Formats: sequence, C-alpha cells, structure tokens
Amino acid sequence: MNPFIDSFGRQHTYLRVSVTDACNMRCTYCDPSRTGRFANDRILSMEEILRIVRLFVTRHGITKMRVTGGEPMVRKDILALFQGIAELKASYPLSVGMTTNGTLLSDHLPSLRSLGLDALNISIDSLDRDRFRSITGMDALPQVLEAFRLAKGLEVPTVKANVVIMRGVNDHEIPAFVRYAAEHSLAVRFIEYMPFAQNTWDTGRFLDYRSMKRIAEAEGALIPMAYQPHSVSKDYRIAGTNGMVSFISSVSEHFCGGCNRLRLTADGRLRTCLFALPSMETDLRTLLRSGDGSNEAVADAVRNALRNKWEKHPDPEILAVTQSNVMRAIGG
Ligand code: SF4
Repeated sequence: MNPFIDSFGRQHTYLRVSVTDACNMRCTYCDPSRTGRFANDRILSMEEILRIVRLFVTRHGITKMRVTGGEPMVRKDILALFQGIAELKASYPLSVGMTTNGTLLSDHLPSLRSLGLDALNISIDSLDRDRFRSITGMDALPQVLEAFRLAKGLEVPTVKANVVIMRGVNDHEIPAFVRYAAEHSLAVRFIEYMPFAQNTWDTGRFLDYRSMKRIAEAEGALIPMAYQPHSVSKDYRIAGTNGMVSFISSVSEHFCGGCNRLRLTADGRLRTCLFALPSMETDLRTLLRSGDGSNEAVADAVRNALRNKWEKHPDPEILAVTQSNVMRAIGG
C-alpha cells in the first residue's frame, strides 16, 4: 500500500466523492441563485469515478468514502456506483456513507442498504414546514422525516441529521432539534454556516458552535463523548437518552490538524481541502481522458497536490472573499 501523505505528515484515508453538481433544492446557505451547472461532457462517468475509487482503495489506503452532490440521488446511475463499491468492499476495508437531502431516497434506500451503505447523513435545517420551505426552496419536510424513519427501519448502521445553523434564521430551533434527537434516539449535527461562493455568507448570520452549545444545554445536560481520530465533530450524548448532538466548528475552531480528507468533484477536480482555492485543484478528468491516464500518473498528481496542501484553512474573512466554488459543486 502506498498511502497519500501530505507535507505535514497527515495520511489521507477518506475520499468524498461528489457525483453531481445538480440538486432539486436551492438552500439559502448553498446556492440559492442556482448559478451555472457543469456541462454534461465535463461530468465524470460512473466508470471514471469507480476507476479513481478502485485505485485509491486498492493501492493508496483509502478506507472511508462518502458519496455527495449536489444531491447524489438525482444521478440516475447512482446504484451502479454502489454496485462497484460493494465489489470493492468484498476484498478491502471500506466504509461508505452518503450525504443527501433525503427527498429522493425512499425508493432506493433498500437497494443502497443491500449494496452495503454504512452511513447516512440527511440534511434537515428546520422542523417547521414553512421555515423548511423558506430555507430549501422546497416543501419537502414530510418526505425528509419519512427518510429518517425508513433509514432507521432498514437499520442503516449510522444515521445522522445535518443542520446548518444560521443566526436569526433557524438558531431558535436548536432546542427543538435537541428534543427531537432525544425522542428519536437520533444523532443531530449542528454545522456552522460556512462561506462559499454565491451563499452571501456574513458574520451577522454566523453563529459559532460555543453559542449553539449553550443554547442546546438549556434543553438538558450534554455528556462529552470520546473524540474519534480525524473527526470533524464534537460529540455529546443527551443525558438520560440515546440521543446525540454534535457541533461542526469548521469556521470558528478548525480541525485541520487531523485532516484525512480528499475530495473529488463531479467534473473530476481533486480538492485537497473543502476551502481549496482554484490553484489548489488538480484536474483528474483531463488526465483520465488524455493519453497518459495511467494509475501511476493519477497517483503522482495526487501526491503533487498533497505536497501543496496547506496546514489549515485561512480565516473566515479571507474565505468569504476567496471562495470561487458554490457548495453544491464541492459536496461539502
Ligand atoms: S478545512 Fe480543509 S484542511 Fe481543514 S479539515 Fe477541512 S478539508 Fe481539511
């Protein structure tokens, strides 16, 4: 095995794959104006994605992957990806998760589960139907709640709720989410609002995790859980329940020291950081489609990218003016 290690000694064992920049929602913290989409001929085929996944898993020590979008379930051939991953899981240690908005999940979840889906993060930014619609642009709260029920019913090993908290928008719902987590023995992840292109991020709507935690603690004692290596979250059990809340402090308190993540965009750009600048991206699509798309050439390109990976992301004020990608083109 020839692991992917950056110049700070961080081994990269986790690949996040965005399979599309398309989405059926238009969340205010993502890309409400729905700016331009990738041209179809730029989108990697499932075979091209699987080629990269196979290479990274079989030769370079990737043991965890997450399928993201846009909304991954809008891709009609999504099951073909999971079929290929299932074949890999038969011979290699590999856990696979998916981040989805849950609106297109129910019909396919039994198949995804039988193909080895291990973890599911479903976005749900409000428990109030009208506010849900105003944040996402879609009246879909019932379908999303149904997706949680189905995932639990199908015993998906790990099911979590992703909640992006925006001050003055849904921060007053933190107590309701803590109660929901306690009542449904669910893990709710409160995510700091992050600056990306087109999402009009500003400090006025930003709420740091410490403030979120103070609000959550008004609902019940939070018992710290052991830190998991490379984890992006601070996890707590809600006292006396099987519910859990977590805080993802990407902006106010970075966790870059333990970063083990690589990202592949739907148009084949390798990103060494969630907030990577265009100069930090590597075009694997052209490499794959050019004459010299050998496994060695791809691996060399990744190693070269990791040589240039920064130690930690810049401060939020800089991020707010340097991000050129919309969130749905990165996959979070
Ligand atoms: S911000 Fe970038 S470097 Fe930091 S943990 Fe996230 S992906 Fe890694």
